Amino acid sequence: RSMRSLTVLGATGSIGASTLDLIRRNRDQWRVVALTAHSNAGDLAKLALEFGAELAVVADEAHLPALREALAGSGVEAAGGPAALVEAAARGAEVTVAAIVGCAGLAPTMAAIEQGGVIALANKEALVSAGEVMMAAVARHGATLLPVDSEHNAIFQCLAGNRAEHVRWITLTASGGPFRDWSLERLQAATPAEAVRHPNWDMGAKISVDSATMFNKGLELIEAYHLFPVGLDRLRIIVHPQSVVHSMVEYRDGSTLAQLGPSDMRVPIASALAWPERMDTPCAPLDLAEIGELTFRMPDEARFPATRLAREAAQAGGGIPAVLNAANEISVAAFLHGQISFTRIAAYVEDVLGSYAPPPPASLSDVLEVDGEARARARTLVTST
Ligand code: NDP
Ligand code: MG
Repeated sequence: RSMRSLTVLGATGSIGASTLDLIRRNRDQWRVVALTAHSNAGDLAKLALEFGAELAVVADEAHLPALREALAGSGVEAAGGPAALVEAAARGAEVTVAAIVGCAGLAPTMAAIEQGGVIALANKEALVSAGEVMMAAVARHGATLLPVDSEHNAIFQCLAGNRAEHVRWITLTASGGPFRDWSLERLQAATPAEAVRHPNWDMGAKISVDSATMFNKGLELIEAYHLFPVGLDRLRIIVHPQSVVHSMVEYRDGSTLAQLGPSDMRVPIASALAWPERMDTPCAPLDLAEIGELTFRMPDEARFPATRLAREAAQAGGGIPAVLNAANEISVAAFLHGQISFTRIAAYVEDVLGSYAPPPPASLSDVLEVDGEARARARTLVTST
């Protein structure tokens, strides 16, 4: 395969690091166009120098002077601010890894989609918020959207060569997070430090909290609804504490196909980077005899209401998933800052959903408007706490 060009949006994060680790091992096959971060100019500059990027962008312009200084004389272009972030995404890399956290990644991801290349999507919040608007842009611009989220990557692999009309169930597996077996009473006192300590995966702070509340699975349900056209009533969630089966597809004849692998995001990232080929990863082979047992159980929506809220939001459609996502982002940030208790996250999301029902967004700017209004409402709840 000839050399391909790559942009990583969110290069300094957990997914960014896993992506660049794979690129580092295959340097002769990739040319890096742009790398972006929010504020971490130091690490971004190091990565841009190491990979010989054309361009490095910090979304927060306050960090541009530091980035400029670190890149002075290197030939790597430095830029800052939201418009520069969108321009980086629009430079036409053949493959764009969308790995910014939150709806902040929506505008650059849409810009990459408009270039019509391959989008390896980790940034689930962007798809949850923009739903139909994003999928329509993918179709209109002939982009190829490949899921990096491990469950969706698994489903994508299990669907290969089969028709959606033959699908009986798509089952998303959930680890259940660090509080899987905690009582409601104990959940009320859960701390940020406890929430970010995930038993199976090493991830950014926001998705770690989402995993603890089960909003991660809720967002993934909405993500799956947009990626795989089988209908909401065919999407299920099952708790699987070992995180070995990453998801499964059951067909009308009773065959269930599952994708298994180690809990290492380099596996689904490699699958998207190499698709439709395969590439080597340094991940430890799956040792099922060592793991011994795989177990499964039903989710408990009484303790973890997030999946119910997400299903209702997907059913309502239009701008409602964007409201859910925005309220969750604000509530998670407030929890991480010690402003609200763990169980308030879902409570505030439900409150904002109950107070705001925008008309269906028809464009990126409509989605951003809904996102902004839902954030403002969630912030009001937080400050009144
Ligand atoms: P991290 O917090 O580790 O990294 C986030 C990246 O986005 C960083 O590069 C950060 O820059 C950048 N960023 C943060 N805020 C902004 C902003 N406002 N504008 C522009 N850039 C921003 O997150 P993860 O890598 O864990 O997650 C990234 C996405 O991938 C999320 O949507 C998550 O749900 C999804 N995902 C992650 C998985 C994982 O294992 N980590 C698994 C499956 C999906 P800076 O370093 O400067 O702050
Ligand atoms: Mg996932």
